[in-house]
Amino acid sequence: MAPPQGSRAPLEFGGPLGPPPYLPGLEELWSPWALLLCLTWLGLQAALYLLPARKVAEGQELKDKSRLRYPINGFQALVLTALLVGLGVSAGLPLSALPEMLLPLAFAATLTAFIFSLLLYLKALVAPASALAPGGNSGNLIYDFFLGRELNPRICSFDFKYFCELRPGLIGWVLINLALLMQEAELRGSPSLAMWLVNGFQLLYVADALWYEEAVLTTMDIIHDGFGFMLAFGDLAWVPFTYSLQAQFLLYHPQPLGWPLASFICLINAVGYYIFRGANSQKNTFRKNPSDPRVADLETISTATGRRLLVSGWWGMVRHPNYLGDLIMALAWSLPCGVFHLLPYFYFLYFTALLVHREDRDERQCLQKYGLAWHEYCRRVPYRIVPYVY
Ligand code: NDP
Repeated sequence: MAPPQGSRAPLEFGGPLGPPPYLPGLEELWSPWALLLCLTWLGLQAALYLLPARKVAEGQELKDKSRLRYPINGFQALVLTALLVGLGVSAGLPLSALPEMLLPLAFAATLTAFIFSLLLYLKALVAPASALAPGGNSGNLIYDFFLGRELNPRICSFDFKYFCELRPGLIGWVLINLALLMQEAELRGSPSLAMWLVNGFQLLYVADALWYEEAVLTTMDIIHDGFGFMLAFGDLAWVPFTYSLQAQFLLYHPQPLGWPLASFICLINAVGYYIFRGANSQKNTFRKNPSDPRVADLETISTATGRRLLVSGWWGMVRHPNYLGDLIMALAWSLPCGVFHLLPYFYFLYFTALLVHREDRDERQCLQKYGLAWHEYCRRVPYRIVPYVY
């Protein structure tokens, strides 16, 4: 398949496993315009973060017994960004030219994340001990820079980790997808069904994350991990540029996809979403208020900390049902790209490795927190992610 006219072919692979016949030179990585665009994007999302929020939520209790407050306006930021982009496109903004800049943009985002993490490291040097994360404070400069020293670095009420977690990267990802869809429409007359599916599924995932933004306050990233290069790079560079690989692939490798197969793939995505949303909402509701009628009847185990663990409902099926749903969705995002190339399955494979590692990390933390009660939970719910398999 020839690359689109006048463009580079960053995803043109020789075969399913072969190396790319074309590798860009280093000079193609750097563009001051890409850096400017990247910083403008961050500035826009920061401005949207500062707008009045429909709700201000409290985070989990910290070491010093205080709780931080977080604006719940991520979905509003998505809608306002869509409106601004829509206005821009109707006024002639060449959004479909964005795919041509992906390489320098990814480089600019990586550079930004690196410099940002250095500043976060320096900021942590003057932070009180109670503000430091449980990990990321080993004394080894590189390790601590990578994991992040401060748990919730802030300037006034602006929380850097919470801001980066869901907004610039996730909204940037769907914007890149949209630009790829528009470029495909320009090249081939209309976007393909496969491109619509990938855009639709991933938009649903991002919109869901922002709609249920408050649920992020009980995740490992917010409660446990410091904010360093790992999260900054992941949020700002890795997510938008690698999670859009399926749409990038489809631009260069259009796939014929009929309605019967498309409907089956939609069904897989719906099943994954149902499990993912059900599990995340159940745990979040339970953690916020265990007497909530939606979770009050579920069976639980008491722990020495006073917190209880769910052993029925989604959390009685496997110990991380939310990861199972997420993985099923990841598979549905790759299937529209066919089965003859490995690249669109990169996300599914990488994500499997990430979630297996993350699950293991979480289990160790839970064992430390809950001791015997955690052993009891593992005895009653023996599988980690996939029932009867793992
Ligand atoms: P979880 O939301 O699964 O949170 C784990 C915590 O839940 C545990 O530490 C424990 O904390 C609590 N918990 C565990 N078991 C139980 C139980 N039986 N009853 C009650 N509480 C329990 O972790 P993540 O932050 O890893 O994931 C959040 C979501 O984000 C997932 O859906 C995941 O798939 C997704 N994700 C997506 C990524 C992506 O790149 N697309 C990357 C990472 C995550 P405690 O007891 O202290 O409340």
